[in-house]
Amino acid sequence: MSEPASSPSEVLFPAPDAPAGTYKLDLKLGFRCNNKCVFCVQGDKRDHVLDLSTEEALERLRHARAHCDGLLLTGGEITIREDVPEIIAAAKAMGYTTIQVQTNGRRLAYKSYAQALVEAGATEFNPSLHGHVAALHDGLVGAKGAFVQCTAGIKNLTDMGQRVLTQTVITRQNVTFLPQIARLLVSLKVSQIQFAFVHALGTAAETWDDTVPRYRDVQRYLPLALDIVRAAGIFTITEAVPFCFLRGREWAAIEPRLPSTTVYDGDIEIGDYERYRMEAGKLHGPPCEKCTWNQACEGPWREYPEKYGWDEFVPRDDVPPDLR
Ligand code: SF4
Repeated sequence: MSEPASSPSEVLFPAPDAPAGTYKLDLKLGFRCNNKCVFCVQGDKRDHVLDLSTEEALERLRHARAHCDGLLLTGGEITIREDVPEIIAAAKAMGYTTIQVQTNGRRLAYKSYAQALVEAGATEFNPSLHGHVAALHDGLVGAKGAFVQCTAGIKNLTDMGQRVLTQTVITRQNVTFLPQIARLLVSLKVSQIQFAFVHALGTAAETWDDTVPRYRDVQRYLPLALDIVRAAGIFTITEAVPFCFLRGREWAAIEPRLPSTTVYDGDIEIGDYERYRMEAGKLHGPPCEKCTWNQACEGPWREYPEKYGWDEFVPRDDVPPDLR
């Protein structure tokens, strides 16, 4: 086991003198996973970045507590580790007020395990469901049986009255089925449903032609999915869908409401994740120069226009409301 590290060795985009308790920590415990998603943004790390040891994870929680009071535990797939209840309990004892578990949801099919995470102190769960039927979901995540397990896990959590905030990655394979996926998630009585445009890094960069859809296709199917969820009285949000593709559904964009976040990712600390998105991750292009939503909009992940160009992006000329 390697020596405990109090913090990652390299800091990018440092947080500007963040007052105590104003940030959320996104702590990646490692990149091993029992799925093999075709769209995984971290897929290139799974074989060569070591998971944190328990002690390293706890040291990082202590280190970040100075400016963070919210916590997202993620990976990789964290539930394949045996120390997650211990890490959650320690985070709770340190005073983290919200403790989210991001997961592929499979192990939560075991009710005793879901119960153990709740008893340890988890306050919210972020399972990922990418299809409305097993063939679609299992194909996208590369694991037979994953759909049955994930939906059973979601049901276990909602039966326990837990807050379940789901994530669906929008890909070429599932874009036409977004309304059906929305209907399934509504029937599972989750608390929030997020649709996130695939970020073409890691495995998604390798599988691009099969995996990355065009925004014009997202624009055809996403509004109906959002409307289905909203009509059911469930909160729904989008990620990485610029406002020129969200006309009439601007209320769904998560970016204006994201909390300030610090990310610990292997040996790298991204102190201010919003700065990373704006200065390195996302891009504005020629259409954005005359777009009235320029200030409110982060633009797409840069890989998309770098490959497909800006032809689909039509600048807006209406005045944006305050979306926070
Ligand atoms: S700023 Fe650019 S990406 Fe954003 S809505 Fe306007 S044209 Fe689209």
